[in-house]
Amino acid sequence: MAEAAYDPEYLKKRYAEELAKRVNQGPREYSSISGTRYFDDPNLGEVIERDPLAQEMDVLIIGGGLAGLLTAGRLIQRGITDLRIVEKGADYGGTWYWNRYPGAACDVESYVYMPFLEETNYVPSERYAKSAEIFEHAQRIGRHFGLYEKTCFQTKVSDVRWDEASSRWIVKTNRGDVFRARFVMLTYGSASLPRLPSIPGIESFKGHAFHTARWDYAYTGGDASGNLTGLADKKVVVIGTGATAVQVVPAIAPWCQHLYVVQRTPSSIDIRGNAPTDPDWAASLKPGWQRERVYNFEKVTMGLPEPVDMVQDGWTDSANKLFRWPREKAEAGEGDLPALMQQADFAKMEELRARISAVVKDKATAEALKPWYNLHCKRPCFHDSYLGAFNLPNVELVDTRGKSIERLTETGFVVDGKEYPVDCIVFSTGFDMQAWPTKAGEFRVTGVDGRDIEEHWANGYRSVHGIFFHGFPNLAMVGGVRHGGGSFNINIVFDEQATHTADLVKRALDEGLERIEVSQDAEDEWGRLMREKNQTTQDFLLACTPSYINAEGAGGEESLRVGVYGGGTFEYFEHLKRFREEEFGCGLRTGKD
Ligand code: NDP
Repeated sequence: MAEAAYDPEYLKKRYAEELAKRVNQGPREYSSISGTRYFDDPNLGEVIERDPLAQEMDVLIIGGGLAGLLTAGRLIQRGITDLRIVEKGADYGGTWYWNRYPGAACDVESYVYMPFLEETNYVPSERYAKSAEIFEHAQRIGRHFGLYEKTCFQTKVSDVRWDEASSRWIVKTNRGDVFRARFVMLTYGSASLPRLPSIPGIESFKGHAFHTARWDYAYTGGDASGNLTGLADKKVVVIGTGATAVQVVPAIAPWCQHLYVVQRTPSSIDIRGNAPTDPDWAASLKPGWQRERVYNFEKVTMGLPEPVDMVQDGWTDSANKLFRWPREKAEAGEGDLPALMQQADFAKMEELRARISAVVKDKATAEALKPWYNLHCKRPCFHDSYLGAFNLPNVELVDTRGKSIERLTETGFVVDGKEYPVDCIVFSTGFDMQAWPTKAGEFRVTGVDGRDIEEHWANGYRSVHGIFFHGFPNLAMVGGVRHGGGSFNINIVFDEQATHTADLVKRALDEGLERIEVSQDAEDEWGRLMREKNQTTQDFLLACTPSYINAEGAGGEESLRVGVYGGGTFEYFEHLKRFREEEFGCGLRTGKD
């Protein structure tokens, strides 16, 4: 790494000023869109009419997103076919069913992100697959494992209740179904509940408005790849500049009469470098290639020693610079690890800030787009045309300098006392990542002795591995990020959780074990470990501008409550392995003893 071409003292001061600017701006609340018109499904199509079902089964899976499909696939691979999926959307895909906004894509490499590529004999068409291709792949997984005939679409679970007498979960739905299941898998992910900012006057706006997770093509015209002719005579505002907006803005900018982008905190924007899949490379892949690539990506992005970096993209580049380089220097006795890490972070962020100056022509806009924090304070973004979109004559950045939009009026939005009239508001304001799955799904879960699962979590989140809960036998959460492993490629974690629970269910069924349940001690122990392992991350996060990564700046207990396991993905996997191998150790018990 080259000698520092920046002043670390200036950067420290500047970062602290930016943090203060953000945290001193008063309440930062969001409201849920649940129960409002914003929650309606624009992709629903024809409503399926059917009679209520009354069925008994081994496993009921709530959710048909990637976590639900991974769970079903891993169960079926183990011969457990007596299962049913209940999904509120009209098809599989979860995030990729709902998020069909223009430009939607996955910025984690498709070859590592998309599950079951080898099983389905599919190689994605490009390195960073678009939403439609991932959605189609979810359908492919559904067909491959014969899941369509086992799935109730357009169906919402309304109640999940443990019946002690029969050791079964009774699951009811809004279609009048009553299912009796030995095991229930909650597979609601963290991006299930879109949120709106609590901006005064939000109800008074009389123009058109929608959330990015419910894109209204009936209004904009076109589809995810463009042709948004409905916007040609419209003044549009995109509120938010997170990973979603970074994809939306360049995709809609050429179609709008005028586009305002309201920014409260800038994202970091690194190089994307998408490319079509090389057919020779695809043809050369040998069995086992996907797992090898997934694990290589994980190790490299965690800064662990790996002889090769197979993916070589923005994620691995920053991990090599921010994690591996400092570790190697520290191991060679050439400095103190935290200081080296900070040095590397300053250098990386300087590189990203320089990219903005190089691309964005208007100096004031370029300055406003520069992020002043450590890279992982917010989710890093990657795009090759987001910054360039601000060079278009019809695109205008409205920088609130850390403040919320002041208010909405009947005809527009107000920042710094100035009203901007608009025809359409696009809320790119993210998701309630910390919502309990029951809140996202709008149902209750009642366990042993009539205990509500939200009551169980009332004084802080309690779990074993983010998967099992004391007093809720035979119930597992797959795909939750709280208390589980964290990764830039979250599907590696979801897959491990799915495989883990499928193994346990198989064993219970094979051995006639009635009940899999973790003890209170096991939950206490996992809670203790979470705190111990997360202390370093907490200190880092508290120095960050607020975002969902640090519980919107709440930090401390709140952050621990919702955080991921701080010991890293592989250590988390080791815990799961030990749990399986040690004869239902760590508090797992079987039977009614
Ligand atoms: P985020 O939560 O990341 O961003 C919300 C945005 O809204 C922020 O810029 C926030 O500002 C802004 N905002 C909120 N309230 C106000 C307000 N009152 N006034 C002004 N601005 C406001 O949501 P996203 O949908 O962008 O991303 C959510 C997550 O979804 C990502 O982090 C990622 O995990 C996932 N994702 C993944 C993608 C992929 O390619 N894999 C693509 C897209 C999303 P501030 O920053 O100041 O809080």
